[in-house]
Amino acid sequence: MLKREFNLSLFVKRLFSKYYNSVSNFFIPKKLERREFGFIFFDGELMRRHIAFRDASDFLSFIRSNVPKHIYYSSAYYEYPDADNMNDKGWLGADLIFDIDVDHIPTPCKRYHDSWKCLNCGGEGTGNVDVCPYCGSERLRKKTWVCTFCLDTARKETLKLLDFLIEDFGFDRSELEIFFSGHRGFHVHIDSDAVLEMGQDSRREIADYVRGLGIDNSFFLRKSRKGLYRYVYNYDSPGWYRRLIRGIYSFLLKSSEDSLERANVLTPRIKNLLEQLSVLGPDAILESELSLREWKTLMENGISEESCIIDEKVTIDTKRLIRLPDSLHGKTGLRVAKLTYDELENEDILKKSIVFTKGVMRIYTTRIPRKVLDYDFGEIKSGVLEVPMYLGIYLLQNGGDDISLIKIL
Ligand SMILES: [Zn+2]
Ligand SMILES: [Zn+2]
Repeated sequence: MLKREFNLSLFVKRLFSKYYNSVSNFFIPKKLERREFGFIFFDGELMRRHIAFRDASDFLSFIRSNVPKHIYYSSAYYEYPDADNMNDKGWLGADLIFDIDVDHIPTPCKRYHDSWKCLNCGGEGTGNVDVCPYCGSERLRKKTWVCTFCLDTARKETLKLLDFLIEDFGFDRSELEIFFSGHRGFHVHIDSDAVLEMGQDSRREIADYVRGLGIDNSFFLRKSRKGLYRYVYNYDSPGWYRRLIRGIYSFLLKSSEDSLERANVLTPRIKNLLEQLSVLGPDAILESELSLREWKTLMENGISEESCIIDEKVTIDTKRLIRLPDSLHGKTGLRVAKLTYDELENEDILKKSIVFTKGVMRIYTTRIPRKVLDYDFGEIKSGVLEVPMYLGIYLLQNGGDDISLIKIL
């Protein structure tokens, strides 16, 4: 085992310092002097905020000499960004921000890397739970990790979001900035005069829209004959009118009579629709006459196919601090990487964000998650392992007592 003096935090800070002092073309937010900054440093857990900078070089020399563990900046612009009281800052507007975090999305891989322990009854298990299944307590200590499957799930969700923003809201691709968060998901920033002065209520409307909330069946259906209804719109219709056809279609495509039966959805008319689907494609939906109840079930499933899982709090908040692009995530050591639409769609996200490519760590573990980042440890549960530097940093910083460093090779 390594000598006691080894200080992981200091080691990571040195690596971060090397990065911040050598990186070129570092991301500088638009109107930097109007933004509030917040930092968490290596020697404390608390965020120091209400900090502002005159210009880019003022900011860069600060991060190069102080080497923060986490760097945040405001989506908002202020007259006095360094005022200690939010009410004294003089809010001038804010970018529109979306946050997609795999923490909010159920993925099957969580049972391979996440675990929990109940602080009330001592029960434990794998995967993700909100309350202890044994005693119902919410006092849980969770250990969560991210793997490439998680990232891929979040990537698909982000592509859904971009489709909403481009197709339904009419934003140009050039107005959308896409970032890997350096941990569990993606951020999309919209930098456009059209959103700048929007208040919380308008932002909430947008969040609700992409989440598919508040869709009223009666706007989509028209009575055809006694007790039966038809769908009013078609593929040329805008927004959710068209999306819902696509959503119902993809729901039915992946359903079988058996699965619909089990879900209590199958009726003679829906069975008929399912048969027609193979002949007519989505037209079968437009030609169907169904009861309100049948439509309601199909529409609910169609909405969950099409809607997007975002953290709405981030979108609604007009004074939020968000992670700075190009900064390093203090927990993972990964870079908050800017991505083009095509990169998001086609490229290896981790490759774009791994900074510490050199070196190997020999670690000792009493319990290792099976999947972490792009690694699959298979049946290995404990023992001595050699892992690349970027993975070692994440494992050591996130593994608590389960993982310790033996040697840097
Ligand atoms: Zn319990
Ligand atoms: Zn995963």
